[in-house]
Amino acid sequence: MNVAVFSTREYDRRFLIEANQERLNLTFFEIRLELESCSLAEGYPAVCVFVNDQLNADVLHRLYEGGTRMIALRCTGFNNLDFYAIQTLGFTVARVPVYSPSSISEYTIGLILALARKICKAYLKTREGNFSLSGLLGYNIRHKTAGIIGTGRIGAQTALGFAGLGCRVLVQDVQENSRLVAAGIPYVSRETLFQESDIISLHCPLLPETFHLINHETIQVMKDGVMIVNTSRGGLVDTGAVIDGLKSGKIGSLALDVYEEEDEFFFEDFSDRVILDDQLARILNFPNVIVTGHQAFFTTEAMRAIARQTIENLLDFENGTVPAGILTREMIVAP
Ligand code: NAD
Repeated sequence: MNVAVFSTREYDRRFLIEANQERLNLTFFEIRLELESCSLAEGYPAVCVFVNDQLNADVLHRLYEGGTRMIALRCTGFNNLDFYAIQTLGFTVARVPVYSPSSISEYTIGLILALARKICKAYLKTREGNFSLSGLLGYNIRHKTAGIIGTGRIGAQTALGFAGLGCRVLVQDVQENSRLVAAGIPYVSRETLFQESDIISLHCPLLPETFHLINHETIQVMKDGVMIVNTSRGGLVDTGAVIDGLKSGKIGSLALDVYEEEDEFFFEDFSDRVILDDQLARILNFPNVIVTGHQAFFTTEAMRAIARQTIENLLDFENGTVPAGILTREMIVAP
């Protein structure tokens, strides 16, 4: 089967070629899938896409007209899909439901430790030959309260990681995770979590009800000097509100691995260009903020698992069987 693979870099190609073993005919495009590029997929029964490819109604109709019937997502999240068009046109959509939750939870804890102990600042200083400790005073994570929103695969591992670091852990979700209940980690209301947490880490999906869950009002109820970390999806955080919170000092530190307008910038090199997004440019300039370019998943283990599951999903579709990573109607309506 011919597959048009969008948004690919050298590392995507390497892992997909290794997993494919020449069973599918993969054509790699570096460009992302959007209305302007979807003619490239004409005649391909399947397309393979990543987090920032655009699968809105117009793109999906064009893909359908061009003969595409299957969409293989190389990721877990599926907030970039127009669910209504997917269902009306009858596309088969498969994703990678689990690949390496520890890749993201370990990275999240890494960001938190880096913020609390000012490791990035220290790294920059010592490279300049500056070994003074001025400006590097940190704080211990042990005995702090860590609040986790979303206790699925990644959130649960992050919560257990915090517990291992000696934190008091509070969690919030629309459904309880039995591993956390068994570990004695309490579920609380989102308001209690906001009020009592020194560190807030987001691990729920981006849905209409979670859009901008960090906003001006919710920041007001948080502790002074709170640390906020988002390695989930950019739209969970109102960037203007966190900029205001950082300026007032209400937010003590912030780490973002995702950004609500990231599809314009992330996975690209802008080092010799002017960043025209004023909010992104502003947020990059705070000394107590770490921004990374959607990197939390990026480990050898995760890339290998993503490639393996993606190729299996595509082969299942080609063979007329239900892909293991199928995105069902129920998941789309109530993920
Ligand atoms: P998951 O489906 O296992 O867990 C998501 C959890 O969020 C579930 O327990 C669900 O009940 C909960 N949830 C749903 N609605 C909620 C709400 N309104 N309030 C609170 N909780 C709610 O997903 P996962 O594999 O743990 O992934 C979590 C998120 O991490 C995903 O949204 C994904 O987009 C993101 N992610 C980011 C990266 C990265 O590289 N930065 C990589 C993989 C996944």
